[in-house]
Amino acid sequence: MTALRKTAVLSMDVEDWYHLDYFGRGQCNENISMLDGVERYLGILAQEHVPSSFFVLGELAGRVARLLNGQPDVGAHGWSHRRPLTMSVDEFAQDALRTRRELEDRLGREVVGYRAPCFSMDRKRLDRLQELGYNYDSSRIDFAGHPLYGTLDMSGFDVARPWIYQRQSFLEFEISSLACGRRRFPVAGGGYLRLLPWPLMRFLLTRYLRQETFYVLYIHPFELSTRPDPPLPTGTPRATRVRFSRGRHAVAQRLRTLIAILRKHGFTFSTFASVRQELLSQQAPESVI
Ligand SMILES: [Zn+2]
Repeated sequence: MTALRKTAVLSMDVEDWYHLDYFGRGQCNENISMLDGVERYLGILAQEHVPSSFFVLGELAGRVARLLNGQPDVGAHGWSHRRPLTMSVDEFAQDALRTRRELEDRLGREVVGYRAPCFSMDRKRLDRLQELGYNYDSSRIDFAGHPLYGTLDMSGFDVARPWIYQRQSFLEFEISSLACGRRRFPVAGGGYLRLLPWPLMRFLLTRYLRQETFYVLYIHPFELSTRPDPPLPTGTPRATRVRFSRGRHAVAQRLRTLIAILRKHGFTFSTFASVRQELLSQQAPESVI
């Protein structure tokens, strides 16, 4: 087997602060938006000359379509950030289809990628996604310590390359995490970029990049917003307030540093859609029908 090219995919889940699962949606002032973080992220991508994948909520499609017009890989993140595992399989399918249609209307092109809100995904729902015509998903994360994340059984899929599962031409991209003894640490999330002390994040990331050839980052607009924290619903626990706002001021710089570290370790930048195309084009046609 030839050596795998080291590939990094940066991705943004385009949602607003009030979509976060730890706030009661009805208690948030939705007139306050932190979607300016999308523009800031696009500015960083342009300055650094790196691409990104995006997963957009259906109900925000109209607000961000113009911004994302030139972006090569825009997928769906559900209609309003309801967790798929809290919906019936049929409700989930309706949500995923409605989101896709809205995005396709607004963007004027095909939408075939999906990421579940809170990585809330299981095999039944993944199979439905494929039936609906989606051709890739990025909702698998191996981090049992988080109460909201689903578990995704990949039996029947082949490992196309580490972290990427394949069944026919449908791909599942796993979110990066690092095994340390019996524990697993996510090294992929904007939250960890903000909340972990930078020397620790850097240590975990470097360790990951030395042993792996595929890396995924996911980040959110509120993490890059330059606006002040919105008034959080009364009764929001202190720990949640800290989790929401800590480190936001440092994220842009950390993202630039992360990109530099990835480059230093020989990683090149791509999107999920491009990685999929590249993988399929390397395979014999009969194996992907
Ligand atoms: Zn989300």
